[in-house]
Amino acid sequence: IQAYAYAVSELEQSLNGGRPNEELERKEINFSRELEIRSVTFRYDSKSEGPPLLKDVSTLIVKGDFVLLEGPSGSGKTTFMHLLTGLIYDYDGQILIDGSPLTNETRKSWQSRLGFVQQSPIILQDTILQNVAFGLESRNINPAAANKAIELAGLAEFVNTFSLKMDTPVGENGLTLSGGQRQRLALARALYRDPEILLLDEVTNQLDEENKLLILKNLQAIAGLGKTIMLISHDPVARSFANRVLHLSNGTIRETKRVNTKT
Ligand code: ADP
Ligand code: MG
Repeated sequence: IQAYAYAVSELEQSLNGGRPNEELERKEINFSRELEIRSVTFRYDSKSEGPPLLKDVSTLIVKGDFVLLEGPSGSGKTTFMHLLTGLIYDYDGQILIDGSPLTNETRKSWQSRLGFVQQSPIILQDTILQNVAFGLESRNINPAAANKAIELAGLAEFVNTFSLKMDTPVGENGLTLSGGQRQRLALARALYRDPEILLLDEVTNQLDEENKLLILKNLQAIAGLGKTIMLISHDPVARSFANRVLHLSNGTIRETKRVNTKT
């Protein structure tokens, strides 16, 4: 990342409409109440005539919600999550955090509050610890927090089978990880930063029953502490752990379960 920092900054500048980064005013955004998706319509090809992928979608997510986002393959679940992360922003409508719109100015602040696990996470050819504390220099890593994240992600038993524990190398010159282990490592990476909101794209789909239940239970407990979670999954088992279920199909979202967490 460091090696490409210059190119990334050039790219960012052009995405910001040619303005240098310093000139782009950065505004802090707070997330203490709710995340609102208001009348969002999106299509990848703005020139296409067909129906949009997301059509006038509105929903309100309350802090502390554990939301399961389900729907057929290709219905736009991952796209919807990319909109929430600020990775896609050429949509109609608004995304509001505590009433403030997600914009160029507020995007960085919002992204600093969220943890995002992609469908196919990137694993570094480095130690387990470096993979969890992604992007941090060794002296800034908190090993106790890394251990906790590994435990919550259901990876503790696996890590403990190695004499080097968290210092065990993974990737080409180390352990070859299974799909499920990669997912859990990426989840531990997101949890390590202790974000206010977790966006998890199919993190449980390659796990065995035991690990799946362990992670769902941990996520439920994390939501109970006031963190907000959105999990994309096809798994009916996940329904009972989430307090809300949103079903996305034909461009619209239908709420099929809602239990309010706050009294
Ligand atoms: P899901 O996660 O529900 O399976 P996706 O959000 O990945 O659905 O994709 C929804 C639709 O958008 C699919 O038809 C897919 O081919 C299309 N799509 C996804 N990403 C892109 C992209 N970057 N450019 C154009 N079309 C895309
Ligand atoms: Mg997807």
